[in-house]
Amino acid sequence: MPMDFLASNNSKPNTISLQPWKVLVVDDDEDVHETTRIALAGCRQDNRLLRLYHAQSVEEAKEILEKNDDIAVALIDVVMDTHTAGLDLVKWVRSTLGNSFIRLIMRTGQPGYAPRMDVIERYEIDGYKEKAELTRSKLLSAIITALRGYKLLMSLETNRKNLKKLNDHFYELIEKDDLLQFGSTLLDQIANLIGVAPEGLVCAAERDVEISDIRANTVKVLAAGGVYMSFVGRTLDAVTSNDIRTPIYQCITSGENQIQPFGTCLALRSRAGLRAAIYVGLPYAVLERLLGEEVLNIFILNASLGFEKTTLLEHIHRLAFEDRVTGLSSYAGFTERFRRLAGTGRPMTVVLLDIHRYRMIEHGIGEEQAGDFLKKVGMRLRSGFPTAFVIARKEVDEFILLLDHVGAGRLPDLVDLLETLFDEPIAVGDSVFNIRMRMGIANSGDHGHDPEQLARYASIALNDLRQRGSANYAVFTPSMQENAFERLRLTSLLTGTAGKTQFLVHYQPIIEAGTGLVYSCEALMRFRTSGGDFLNTQRMIEAAEASGMIIDVGGWMIQNAVSEFSALPTLPPSVHLNLNLSPKQVQSSRIYADVERALEHSGTSMDRLIFEVTEGIFVNNDQEIISFLTWIRDNGGKVVIDDFGTGYSSFSYLRKLPVDGIKVDREFIMHMDQDEDALAVVRSILAVAQALGLEVTAEGVETLPQRNILRDLGCDYLQGYLYSKPIPGEDLITFMSQESNTGTGLTF
Ligand code: C2E
Ligand code: CA
Ligand code: CA
Repeated sequence: MPMDFLASNNSKPNTISLQPWKVLVVDDDEDVHETTRIALAGCRQDNRLLRLYHAQSVEEAKEILEKNDDIAVALIDVVMDTHTAGLDLVKWVRSTLGNSFIRLIMRTGQPGYAPRMDVIERYEIDGYKEKAELTRSKLLSAIITALRGYKLLMSLETNRKNLKKLNDHFYELIEKDDLLQFGSTLLDQIANLIGVAPEGLVCAAERDVEISDIRANTVKVLAAGGVYMSFVGRTLDAVTSNDIRTPIYQCITSGENQIQPFGTCLALRSRAGLRAAIYVGLPYAVLERLLGEEVLNIFILNASLGFEKTTLLEHIHRLAFEDRVTGLSSYAGFTERFRRLAGTGRPMTVVLLDIHRYRMIEHGIGEEQAGDFLKKVGMRLRSGFPTAFVIARKEVDEFILLLDHVGAGRLPDLVDLLETLFDEPIAVGDSVFNIRMRMGIANSGDHGHDPEQLARYASIALNDLRQRGSANYAVFTPSMQENAFERLRLTSLLTGTAGKTQFLVHYQPIIEAGTGLVYSCEALMRFRTSGGDFLNTQRMIEAAEASGMIIDVGGWMIQNAVSEFSALPTLPPSVHLNLNLSPKQVQSSRIYADVERALEHSGTSMDRLIFEVTEGIFVNNDQEIISFLTWIRDNGGKVVIDDFGTGYSSFSYLRKLPVDGIKVDREFIMHMDQDEDALAVVRSILAVAQALGLEVTAEGVETLPQRNILRDLGCDYLQGYLYSKPIPGEDLITFMSQESNTGTGLTF
């Protein structure tokens, strides 16, 4: 029987020592002090000794009373220097001092000075005794009665105060939005209620575990005081002491308070089936004595409500701020964390990452495995950036990092870190992926402190990067934003949200340098607004690339250019057609179908087509791109590298690529006749290309001197305003007939 056990245990010293009762003796007769001292020596009440305070006068008494507001009983002589001194003191205690708890016993040596009944009532005087009457036993019984009264009053008062505290505590408890905070608040409140901080633990079962499945390793330590402090955040099985672990476990699984010889475990339970326990290193009887049963019960009830509310809040919080696929933070979590940190004014860097060619991976392995894949990417990021303020997943394959400010000087380190982080391929199921991450970067110092704005800036930088295709990181600059706005405007034109824009094909002849004959025509896209204006092609193509519409737009171009060109009357079938392919188009899976369909519909064969691609697509040694280009060439088509010299430009790789030729960028041709360096570049490009057996086309040939130099250097093909601007199909017919009129193009 635990209660019996408790009772016998009661005499053991408790962690909380019991203070003696304070008793004040006010008398101007020293003998009275002495006899009282002798009479009360060694007396106890409720296991508490008595401590006497002695005052010889009213003044001394007042002084002692002012200093000690916890004097339980005062024995007051009625007549001291005046006949009414005792009564005056009583009035002062109740009215001026405002102490309504202290018990007052009046004593007099001269009968006849007894206070009147109404005075006794008004000032709550507990007894009036003649000194002669006060034998030791009578004095003792008067004091014990007074002490009982005092104790009762005090416990009522403590209860009242505790109930008020509980009321305040309740609001404190229910406004917590995180269980660890909640747990430590509970311990603080217990300490506040009982007046000392006891050893204690607050534990809770995991939210989504059935009660029958609760084990010590699914119970979490939310808070701890004293020696248990180190267990916070760990699970209950880490608590080695069986005397504590077992009652907590039983308390949680049974939902009942557990009473132990040296400790008490209070059960918290909610209507939703949530379970938690508060372990306090004090026997139940002591807790109850210190708090009172009702207070203890209300405390448990409040704690249960607070626990339920905090758990649910934490759950909602998790739903909102945690990405369920990767376990990283969600974008909402990122913005929240950012806002909190931005308040401190510290400069930060936002890094937006995307996985190059993620869509292909997703299509390859399916949605479920793609989830595992993303999770692994997230884990890599976590291990690589342990000090990041937050690592979140923003969209499908976009991750966003919030870091302490990374200065321009440290950017290369950041890029290196990211690269080494993904050196090892990522394995999912039977597949292994070598991935490349790209980074758009924005700094809070330079561009404000709004998380959404900075994420947008980082996204603009990332988009800018996608346009250019070669580098793997870009730091946001305001000019990127202007470009982005421009692209947006153009996209709206493309999608027809700003009136219908017509797509047209123009052709620019490419002349064989040796013969002056038209060797091929480059198909160039044109965009004509409903008002008849032509939009800047370069910008429109960039806009289409940025929005992903290039796949459709490019598909349209392949289809229409091939069928229109092949249907042009009087055009010799030996004249080729050059088609520009944007990187995204080459990467898309529908490129094969686009080409096949165009050939099929127009009855053209592949050997009439020359595909222009940019250097950027070779940077990652993407096997699927190589396969596509090889397919073109295997079927008789040609592949040339466009704008050669502007991008990656490494001759060493040229040999290994499935290409037939290069087009030297207009930039070099333009300056060639005035600038020695430009001429040297063109000369060496041509020398190397010829050594590698590649055909060379010069773009942007505008003048005769340029043509002459190129011809002397052995350039194969020439293209530029010197011959013709890009022109519509019907003008091309005229051009060709003029060319034949001049007889084998000798003018060229
Ligand atoms: P590009 O492929 O380098 O095309 C050559 C550009 O140089 C054309 O500009 C052409 O009009 C211009 N050009 C040709 N000869 C001369 C010259 O002698 N002097 C000068 N100043 N310019 C010359 P355009 O038509 O505005 O096209 C711009 C770019 O748009 C193209 O550059 C190409 O990258 C892209 N583009 C055009 N059509 C398509 C298309 O169907 N698909 C793709 N992916 N890109 C296209
Ligand atoms: Ca081109
Ligand atoms: Ca070009």
